[in-house]
Amino acid sequence: MIDFRSDTFTKPTPGMLEAMCRAEVGDDVYGEDPTVNRLEILSADLFGMEAAIFCPSGTMTNQIAIKCHTQPGDEVICDKLSHIYIYEGGGVAFNSLSSVRPIEGDRGRITAEQVLESINPDDIHKPVTSLVSLENTANRGGGSCYDFEEFRRIKEVCLAHKLALHLDGARLYNAIVAGNQSPRHYGEVFDSISVCLSKGLGTPVGSVLIGTNELVKKARRLRKVFGGGMRQAGFLAAAGIYALENNVDRLAEDHKHAAMLAAALAQKDFTGEILPVETNILIFEVKGRFTAQELVDKFREQEIVTIAISKKQVRMVLHLDITFEMVQRTIQVIKNL
Ligand SMILES: *Cc1c(COP(=O)(O)O)cnc(C)c1O
Repeated sequence: MIDFRSDTFTKPTPGMLEAMCRAEVGDDVYGEDPTVNRLEILSADLFGMEAAIFCPSGTMTNQIAIKCHTQPGDEVICDKLSHIYIYEGGGVAFNSLSSVRPIEGDRGRITAEQVLESINPDDIHKPVTSLVSLENTANRGGGSCYDFEEFRRIKEVCLAHKLALHLDGARLYNAIVAGNQSPRHYGEVFDSISVCLSKGLGTPVGSVLIGTNELVKKARRLRKVFGGGMRQAGFLAAAGIYALENNVDRLAEDHKHAAMLAAALAQKDFTGEILPVETNILIFEVKGRFTAQELVDKFREQEIVTIAISKKQVRMVLHLDITFEMVQRTIQVIKNL
């Protein structure tokens, strides 16, 4: 079985499992797990930021960040395809009592001009705009990456209007590798950054929220309130440290594999628009002979698992459990369809 549904389907490698088994642990709710502490310091240092906190999921790191940056009744500006808006169960309303201002962006990315236009005036009828949340890479944009200059322009708007700037970096290392960037540049621009360790980096569990000492202190209280305080979490944090040390550079292979699959699909009459492949996500339209679901079913017969994300679109995500040979086999199947 070749599973392209998501980069969350990876299983820990023997090296990662060994690192997990060897972890030195303690009770992290008491701040006494040395491995969690090490992962948090490492994460903050990589981004040149003050502090970080390890959480069970990327939804939790995003939701805690949003809660830190808003007051009830505030409004959050984000792209209308943002994970925080469409895939977090209405958490912005539920957890932060805030509304969302969804913006029609370009493949999940919004501009400084759009942010500026969406800030509410000081008017008692309007929610108070307090936060801008961006996503890089943008999942529903097909793994699209921002031009870093746009972040700087958005930051200027945020500074001028006293807005906080959060980054949902579930796949940030994919963007960093694809763009040959340094995490430090992100640390200079964003007030908080959420990074998933359980996507392309291949750990079984966990995300980190990175920011100032003040933000992370607040986040520790919120993590407890949200039920995310874990005890001997060092076993999981060890996987994160291992991933940061071993699984970042190899993301380039996933990007290459995604481009190879896109090239093979481009030759087929049933392929409609393919979103530009910038990282490890491939989203394409299906037309003519198959509906999206029928194509997914055809792949299934060949033990290739994909997912229809809309009536017309199929998504394939590359990750560390998909080898070059598996990509070759998939290309052969595509050719024969
Ligand atoms: C996966 C993902 C998250 C976090 O999801 P969890 O499943 O809660 O870890 C956040 N944002 C984006 C863009 C994601 O793809």
